[in-house]
Amino acid sequence: NLSARLQVVADYVEHGARLADIGSDHAYLPCYLAQNNRIDYAVAGEIVKGPYLNAVSEVSKLGLKETIDVRLGDGLEVLTAKDNIDTITIAGVGGPLIVHILEEGKQKEKRSGKETLILQPNINERIVREYLMNESYVIDAETIVEENAKRYEIIKATAVNDKVNYDEKDLLFGPFLKKKKSQVFLDKWKSEAKKYEYIIRQMEKADERNDEKINESTERLNLIKEMIK
Ligand code: SAM
Repeated sequence: NLSARLQVVADYVEHGARLADIGSDHAYLPCYLAQNNRIDYAVAGEIVKGPYLNAVSEVSKLGLKETIDVRLGDGLEVLTAKDNIDTITIAGVGGPLIVHILEEGKQKEKRSGKETLILQPNINERIVREYLMNESYVIDAETIVEENAKRYEIIKATAVNDKVNYDEKDLLFGPFLKKKKSQVFLDKWKSEAKKYEYIIRQMEKADERNDEKINESTERLNLIKEMIK
């Protein structure tokens, strides 16, 4: 059984996908998808030896070696053209690392830029959405879930030919999440508002005031307050 967080990621993967799961650790996600006949093929990429070996043993324990190839390496560098990947999942790492992996992969021609992306940043979802927008990806689904007192956002995006325009609220809150305003979403942003209030108070008390930073944070706080009011 998958965690609630990985279950959403799994549900977003289209049937018959050729998947690259990057930062796969135990390869739980591709294993679940393969066991349920949801994917044709998967590469499970891992940069660290221990998690890589966990993934190797999970895949062989479940007899899924035909469908899932576990590879040791950095980001998308483990992929080859022959893999014909059409879907990339990156879950459980920070937003900046997700962007870095996608950008490196593009520079090194390890992805075409047309793959479906399913991303679950642990922090800084905004930077992920901004990258998607700049890459002409449109977000077509989003979920926020709570698990073990932590909140996670899962974003599914597909490539389009047109220019994509998201405003600051779309980028920060998510175009779907901000409309739905689920309880988990409201809880998240109430707690973020408290953090910003605290940070702003500290910055105002500091010996060397940085007015620019204070203004930035105040602007952000006002957006949040407006969203949760
Ligand atoms: N994706 C799984 C999940 O969501 O449950 C595992 C998440 S785990 C917290 C993050 C994994 O990403 C770690 O095993 C880490 O070694 C791996 N990782 C970090 N940077 C990576 C990179 N550049 N390329 C491949 N894997 C990476």
